[in-house]
Amino acid sequence: MKSQYRVVVIGGGVVGSSVLYHLAKFGWNDVVMLERRRLASGSSWHAAGGIHALNADPNMAALQAYTIDLLSEIEKESGQNIGLHMTGGLTLAGTPERWEWLQSNYRVFQSIGIDDCELVSPEEAQKRCPIMSTDGVIGAMWADREGYIDTTGTVQAYATAAKMRGAEYYEETKVDALIQTTDGWIVRTDKGDITCEHVVNAGGLWAKQVGRMAGIELPVSPLKHHYLVTDTVPEVAAADFEMPMTVDLEGFTYMRQDQKGVLVGIYEIEHEHWAMDGAPWSYGEELFQEQLDRIENELTLGFARYPAIENVGIKTWVNGAFTFSPDGNPLVGPVAGKPGYWCACAVMAGFLQGGGVGKTLAEWMINGEPEADAWSMDVARYGKFAENKQYIKETTGQFYSRRFVMTYPNEQLPAGRPLKMAPAHTAMTDAGCKWGVSWDLEVPLYFASKGFEETPTLKRSNAFDIVGEECRHVREKVGTVDITGFSRYEVTGPRAEAWLDRIMASRLPGPGRARLAPMLAENGRLKGDLTIFNWGDGTWWIMGSYYLRAWHMRWFLDHIEDGVSIRDLGEEMAGFALTGPRSRAVIESLTDADIGALPFMGCGQYDIGLIRAHVARMSVAGELGYEINCRMGDHIKLRETLLTAGADHDLREYGFNAMLSMRLEKSFGIWSAEFRQEYTPGMTSLDRWIAWDKGEFIGRVAAMAERDSAGPAKVLRTLEVEATDADASGYEPVWENGALVGYVTSGGFGHTIGKSLALAMIDVDAADIGTKLTVHVVGEERSARVIDASPYDPAGSAMRG
Ligand SMILES: Cc1cc2nc3c(=O)[nH]c(=O)nc-3n(C[C@H](O)[C@H](O)[C@H](O)COP(=O)(O)OP(=O)(O)OC[C@H]3O[C@@H](n4cnc5c(N)ncnc54)[C@H](O)[C@@H]3O)c2cc1C
Repeated sequence: MKSQYRVVVIGGGVVGSSVLYHLAKFGWNDVVMLERRRLASGSSWHAAGGIHALNADPNMAALQAYTIDLLSEIEKESGQNIGLHMTGGLTLAGTPERWEWLQSNYRVFQSIGIDDCELVSPEEAQKRCPIMSTDGVIGAMWADREGYIDTTGTVQAYATAAKMRGAEYYEETKVDALIQTTDGWIVRTDKGDITCEHVVNAGGLWAKQVGRMAGIELPVSPLKHHYLVTDTVPEVAAADFEMPMTVDLEGFTYMRQDQKGVLVGIYEIEHEHWAMDGAPWSYGEELFQEQLDRIENELTLGFARYPAIENVGIKTWVNGAFTFSPDGNPLVGPVAGKPGYWCACAVMAGFLQGGGVGKTLAEWMINGEPEADAWSMDVARYGKFAENKQYIKETTGQFYSRRFVMTYPNEQLPAGRPLKMAPAHTAMTDAGCKWGVSWDLEVPLYFASKGFEETPTLKRSNAFDIVGEECRHVREKVGTVDITGFSRYEVTGPRAEAWLDRIMASRLPGPGRARLAPMLAENGRLKGDLTIFNWGDGTWWIMGSYYLRAWHMRWFLDHIEDGVSIRDLGEEMAGFALTGPRSRAVIESLTDADIGALPFMGCGQYDIGLIRAHVARMSVAGELGYEINCRMGDHIKLRETLLTAGADHDLREYGFNAMLSMRLEKSFGIWSAEFRQEYTPGMTSLDRWIAWDKGEFIGRVAAMAERDSAGPAKVLRTLEVEATDADASGYEPVWENGALVGYVTSGGFGHTIGKSLALAMIDVDAADIGTKLTVHVVGEERSARVIDASPYDPAGSAMRG
């Protein structure tokens, strides 16, 4: 072992080995992996080894598909047998809603290129898995690329292939401490110190402690998980093919063949955390005693699903632990404020996600950005609030117990909530507000009468008319919405303007003005869809999506310069927006200043009643509107002030659901849907805000190359969809004469134009206005048509008026 490397990967499980392999593959081979015991001695050795491409999160599904394709490659490259059994797999639907969900997901998988799936009848499913009972099964999805592997062999294959490409790994070498230096890290091990530029936390069950070695509290916890392996099952032994990997969602089990028996794994509703501060260092290749009382119900369902195993002995019980983040996705990427410290942990399904995690992290370290959008696994998707142990316990527990439970897009889950509430929360709840959550904050969805409960559904819910009424009221009269759930960053200092000019691709607004500003990465792809405010007193604000606060601050601080100071105002500021044709009359009644003269996209400080507010004239709904930002402590008073002044104008409160419907009618994109890290300004039409002639800014060279090229292959368009009882929501495939030409980025009902709408990323050849297309909405093919952007008020006269 040398005393200096470029990268030290801590942990020789499947994830660390994949990171090592991908670093070496992409050209960094001065890299070493350190393992305290033997390779795969954490969660990895006792995993069930199941692999399946399907995941309800399309980004994770794509990651899993990459990993599965990689497995045979590393087997070939390393010469190490990984025991790959590509049996194909079944996912069973046991309720009509689940069947609807499966049909809908089948289409989503087509959108993201997973095209080896088919929907099959219960009878066909049983033909492919003859040991299964079809009792209660309504339908199933078959996928070719599913099966299982030998876990230890797979870890060994990644590590061997990495070594063959020049990387090193050492077993029986424990990292005891990490010391940050000016240009990297000292890794203190029981075999001596190593200096390096980068460390990677691939500590698996010990990731928490490897985080704490660098002063980082990661939102991760191990939970226990059971599977059993049976003795020989006569029906399995007699079959001339292998049983497929079978997931019975309503039964909370997965099953695969294991020699001539089967392995049945259980996602226990009654979950159990273990070692929330990380596994003990003394923990080795051990298992827990099985806890039959905790899994009795799921076991009964499992035996009923596979009657062939009822009278067969159980050869092995495995009750082991693996790690979860609050949303079940991995924690990957650089940690803010700790240059050279990278995470590759909380990987719940290392054998089906580890390849993709390794690839993503290696690209990120080497190129500065991963190739695909890594948001759903980015460690910066959580803020400080997620360090709280109870938050971690509630959210990881909820995720685990619901792993096989269907979650509807309009369903509100309780774990870790309510946490942060804007001061007017109680008064708004009394007024009928129904809440959703963004990051740590409760955000208003809509206002309903007492006793109203929304029914979870994949289609239009019973809140449809309530939201419609809010939209119409805002467009015809005036509404107010709590906008605490927007992010606000204050930029000051002698170099503030120059710095903003460098990190934003747009021209900066003059004093007293605001401007939409795309922010780009060096590779010319999007980093933000922000709004810049020039308050005219040397103070600038950046506003964006609330849940991106830690992610954006990491980017800002990574690019900060002397003479610039940036502060996240998210804990200090709150606000309400006034929206609708009567909003000017309401706000004029609250101030002596000539606020009526404030132009569209103008901003300034005003006295609004008793409150000294930062006001900007703009609206996400595309109406005449004012965003009124106040101190957090003034939030209750601001609401009261607006409601009182608005009473004469029939002002009513509305929520984010109405706001989202109205922005769709204006074809206004939002982050994580129309705007993502993998998209470019040309694809999203954000290029119209780029100031090409202003000189240097981050991403200029790449953006210019796109501008001067033949143009992007895919572009964002607005579609009108002939849907009746459901609307598109995201990732549904878009077809032209049966050929896949794109996918929906977001969709919904435009209540004031009375049409189902979708924004979609589609091939330029299919993007002409009027092109006839189809879109699958909740599994059903619907006619659609490309229409001009902004079907509501295309000239923008409402918001400019
Ligand atoms: C019962 C069960 C069934 C499962 N079934 C599946 C399945 O079917 N499919 C699937 O994909 N996944 C499955 N999993 C999950 C899978 O096991 C994990 O996702 C995966 O093992 C995580 O790998 P890892 O490399 O992140 O962590 P680990 O395997 O825990 O590896 C971390 C390694 O880091 C080492 N380490 C930690 N700290 C240090 C230090 N300070 N110095 C040196 N070394 C250190 C540890 O010794 C360990 O070897 C299952 C898990 C369990 C428990």
